Amino acid sequence: MDKFAEIVFDIPVDSKFTYSIPDYLQNDVKPGVRVLCPFGNRYLTGFVINLQNSPEVKNVKSIKSIVDTSPSLSPEIVSFSKWIADYYASPLGEVIAMFVPKKISIKSEMTYALAEDYTEKVNTVDSSNNLIFDIIGLIQKSGNKRLTRKQIEKKLKGKTGAVLDFMVEKGILTRDRTYSDTTRELYVKYIKAGFTRNSVEEVIQLNKIKTPRQVELLEMLSREETIELSRLKNFKIPYSTVSSLYKKQLIEIIDVKKERKPEQGFEEEKKIVILNEEQQNCLDKISGSIAKKEFKTYLIHGITGSGKTEIYIRMLKEVLKKGRTGIVLVPEISLTPQLIRRFRNHFESKVGVIHSKLSEGERLDAYLSIREGKYKVIIGPRSALFAPLENIGMIIVDEEHESSYKQENSPRYNARDMAIVRGMMNDAPVVLGSATPSVESYYNAVTGKYELLKLTKRATEAALPFVKIINPLEKYESDGFRKNEIIDKSRQKFLSKELLYAIDDRLERKESIILLQNRRGYHSYIECMNCNHVEMCDKCSLSLTYHKQIHMLKCHICGFTKPMVTHCGECGSTLLVDSGAGTEKIEEELIGYFPNARIERMDSDTMVSKYKYQKVLNDFHKGNIDILVGTQIISKGLDFPNVTLVGVVNADIGLLIPDFRATERTFQLLTQVSGRSGRSEKPGEVIIQTKHREYKLYDMIASHDYEGFFKTELKAREQGSYPPFTRFSIIEIKSKSKDDCLKESREIYRMLTVLESSHGLLLTPPVPPLISKIKDYYRYHIIIRTTKKSDPAGKKMLSAIRGVKSKLQKSHSVRVSIDIDALNLI
Ligand code: ADP
Ligand code: ZN
Ligand code: ZN
Repeated sequence: MDKFAEIVFDIPVDSKFTYSIPDYLQNDVKPGVRVLCPFGNRYLTGFVINLQNSPEVKNVKSIKSIVDTSPSLSPEIVSFSKWIADYYASPLGEVIAMFVPKKISIKSEMTYALAEDYTEKVNTVDSSNNLIFDIIGLIQKSGNKRLTRKQIEKKLKGKTGAVLDFMVEKGILTRDRTYSDTTRELYVKYIKAGFTRNSVEEVIQLNKIKTPRQVELLEMLSREETIELSRLKNFKIPYSTVSSLYKKQLIEIIDVKKERKPEQGFEEEKKIVILNEEQQNCLDKISGSIAKKEFKTYLIHGITGSGKTEIYIRMLKEVLKKGRTGIVLVPEISLTPQLIRRFRNHFESKVGVIHSKLSEGERLDAYLSIREGKYKVIIGPRSALFAPLENIGMIIVDEEHESSYKQENSPRYNARDMAIVRGMMNDAPVVLGSATPSVESYYNAVTGKYELLKLTKRATEAALPFVKIINPLEKYESDGFRKNEIIDKSRQKFLSKELLYAIDDRLERKESIILLQNRRGYHSYIECMNCNHVEMCDKCSLSLTYHKQIHMLKCHICGFTKPMVTHCGECGSTLLVDSGAGTEKIEEELIGYFPNARIERMDSDTMVSKYKYQKVLNDFHKGNIDILVGTQIISKGLDFPNVTLVGVVNADIGLLIPDFRATERTFQLLTQVSGRSGRSEKPGEVIIQTKHREYKLYDMIASHDYEGFFKTELKAREQGSYPPFTRFSIIEIKSKSKDDCLKESREIYRMLTVLESSHGLLLTPPVPPLISKIKDYYRYHIIIRTTKKSDPAGKKMLSAIRGVKSKLQKSHSVRVSIDIDALNLI
């Protein structure tokens, strides 16, 4: 008989814990069930992973209770979690926790109440401490309710731990644990007729109902089966009407479970389309795998507007016909309202949408609906990969090249790569789609690891837009400016004449315009002309950006803000010059030129609420906005037929940073944003401004030459020993003390060099990354690579990293994190 259970917790500790199972829980504790266990001086919810006959450790504690009656984790989820935890060298508990909504976990908390005889007890203590009376007063004021320590400290604005302990010891307070509420399902009150509905006239007469409101309500109830109580105010029927009819037993009040569904307010007609040949070919190929329940990875390389979404929908219909389910991953939900609308049009209530802005209640509802089998298709960002669907028949990763699939805190998984693993575990095909596939995926496709499917034409009659690359400085030269004047001019004006003429032309023709400037704020940094000092964040090694709307300087890493400066922080000079332009400045410049145009800015500063994106996108779609200016968020999958001009103000942003993927990202961003132009019968144009017209990259963007880009880039990757030829991981060492940071980095590096030849590692000694300090933490990076040839599954690299990790001393001052297949190098 199993007497012990191995349990993991959602804590950053990479180990399993053994607990004994009390007799009365023997039948209930099974793998996948959540249990409440004593942990240190509190109780934590944990997940049962295994059962054991004899424990490997002595003196085990015992499980207190179970949280679920049926396992919340299927065996598939447990093995998938183990895979992820293994591959990313992450704690299993943290990985498993991603499958269950946070709020559903229970954490215990201390609460305090006044003892019955507290007045007597107070008299016995030395009462010089005012805090004692403040606490007593506070509890009395709250109606003698139990208060948590957090509540008390918030009200009294200070630490109370020691005093509370003292008061408990002296018998003034009683202490108890309560378990914080899990988010509850939402119930809504409805009313319904308490009489046969066609007898309403009789009922009114018999009961001598005279008040017009009561008559009205009874008549309403004879027509409608049920009415939501809160809707009555729309008909000006007060609650007193309800209560008097209720007392006469003429109406019933019932509770109906309501699902909190976030509104997706994007309207689009359901179109009936006939697939073109390329689309049909794509569908036929993948249908084969769906029918055979075969795991296989496909990469659809389809140019912008080639109709990928349509194929996704048809594939999923076949999956559902087979009685299986599907997951669709998208980079960001708020930016894909059209895709969601199209899925809703086809699958209606079978689609569940998950995203990071859901409230805890909404998340719980979605989770329960998936478990109950109501949703057959789940759409969402990377976290949707952890939907507890059963019998998964397909996973789609749209815009697979997007870096948002990578989670940048622990567990640092990449959902695109893990989608392939989950597909494999479910015998299900996995479909990656993009107009600009990542170099890694395309390489896998051309080498036969994935099957490559191409869509080379736009689905509608439209052609790809005409792309023009211009150097705004050259323009000025031809206009007769001298060099230093050029620099002055270029500082103040960012839109070239050519771009302005094109905008003017579209405004006249009532066509829409998208302008990309991939940097938010007003200008990018402030420099002192006297001493060259640049205003920096106090906590990060990053220059501050001026935000005109709030008249503040802001750090784009940690969010630190301070008032705009008038004097140099170093020498006090007032000769401050601002450089570069962000979206705010471009917007201002546009308003100056086109005061009558309707201009809207879209970046993470303006898009503060979850509805704002949708409103702006809707307005733009309807033609209520002429020019949309924004950061990269405007480059994502928008399909607006009326856009005929896309302008890129400064294409070089992002190109010159020290990251081997900078070229790839620039190609992707500019190709994607160009793809927003000319999607219907009106031809599209793109104007890209760069100061580096000589770069080959821009020619390839102009000629929509993905293959050309891929070939050139692949060569560079091979020469530099970068992915896809190597696995590329980073060990990050952080500390508030620069010395400790460096010391630990050198020690880890030393340990790695011992394994260098046996494990075939390519090591780069510790160096600070571009942003060498974030939020007061100094940073060092050690880059570890192994070649794909010598280490195809990455096992050698992992074993080296694990080996070093297990030898690390626990340190409070230094933090070490591991980023397998790192995407973020700065
Ligand atoms: P992608 O996701 O590849 O950029 P979309 O799926 O958004 O492209 O499709 C672009 C447009 O073409 C949409 O308006 C879509 O309704 C339309 N479309 C897709 N397939 C067809 C087709 N076979 N015939 C006509 N229009 C189509
Ligand atoms: Zn900062
Ligand atoms: Zn100065």
